[in-house]
Amino acid sequence: MFLNTNFPKAKKYWYQGKFHDWSEAGFHPMMHALHYGTCVFEGIRAYPTAKGPAVFRLPEHNDRFFLSAGVIKMAVPYTKEQVSEAICETVRANGLNSCYIRPLYFYSYGNLGMVPKACPVELAISAWEWAAYLGENAASGVRAFILPTRRIHHTQFNMAAKLGGTYVQSTIAGLEAREQGFDEAIFLNMEGRIAEGPGQNVFIVKDGTLVTNGRTESALEGITRTSLLELGQHLGYKTVVGRITKEDLFGADEAFYSGTAVEVIPIVSVTDGSDPAGARVAHTIGSGKPGPVAQRMIKAFADAVSGRLPQFEKWLTYVGK
Ligand code: PMP
Repeated sequence: MFLNTNFPKAKKYWYQGKFHDWSEAGFHPMMHALHYGTCVFEGIRAYPTAKGPAVFRLPEHNDRFFLSAGVIKMAVPYTKEQVSEAICETVRANGLNSCYIRPLYFYSYGNLGMVPKACPVELAISAWEWAAYLGENAASGVRAFILPTRRIHHTQFNMAAKLGGTYVQSTIAGLEAREQGFDEAIFLNMEGRIAEGPGQNVFIVKDGTLVTNGRTESALEGITRTSLLELGQHLGYKTVVGRITKEDLFGADEAFYSGTAVEVIPIVSVTDGSDPAGARVAHTIGSGKPGPVAQRMIKAFADAVSGRLPQFEKWLTYVGK
């Protein structure tokens, strides 16, 4: 029996073609993914619109899901169409209007050698209401901490994939930042420049230009990030995909995190903890409050996901029925 205390309104999850009561599960301790993180996942959101709940950028998430599965050489048992349909069904079956959706392909029970030769690949899809990822106060700006640990380098690993095991680095980073009294972490890359948050991209704003980085800076090129670049241009901002140094971040007019879970959250202060032996200096970003560009981007993103911007309705998949 699994209580759903931290998964509000979740009623059922989809597993291998069938719905199961949220509180009932019977997974075996010898499942491969449990030991080695041999799973791939997506983080997707659905939002309320005038035409009922709609999944934001479902085809793009689905493409990334299958790309991730390919990276870990999974022989996947479902097609993209079947996964899209199962995602929409899961939102409907839970009666959710606004939710976070988590599809998960994993190497299941079979053998426990590193090579999962006898382990079938299975699919589970869950959906629940997940409100403010960094807490209710995050909208007024968060305090970020630059960790000493560098982000896994893009030459070591396909940064476009979301593989369960590599998220151990993100979990440790998130715990570390909170242990040190901050809201969230920022990783530097091996070159000493800004990479990304544990589950977010980083944007800075300088003189009215939106700047973010990409894969070769050891960041996942997030779907929210790509959407914000397009929305930013729509609002008339210049956008740049390039490198962000620590000094660029400290001297930025504004900064924010972006990601499916976090959405768009202003960063109002950054403390450099990258040198464990060095002095820790807290840098206030801009005025120390959410800036005007971040606020416009937050509004534009909220309008786009809820179908209030006709030219971006192309990003919505209505759940229907
Ligand atoms: N970086 C990492 C490491 C992430 O896990 C995520 C969340 N998927 C992001 C960035 C943001 O990506 P997206 O906007 O696609 O959610």
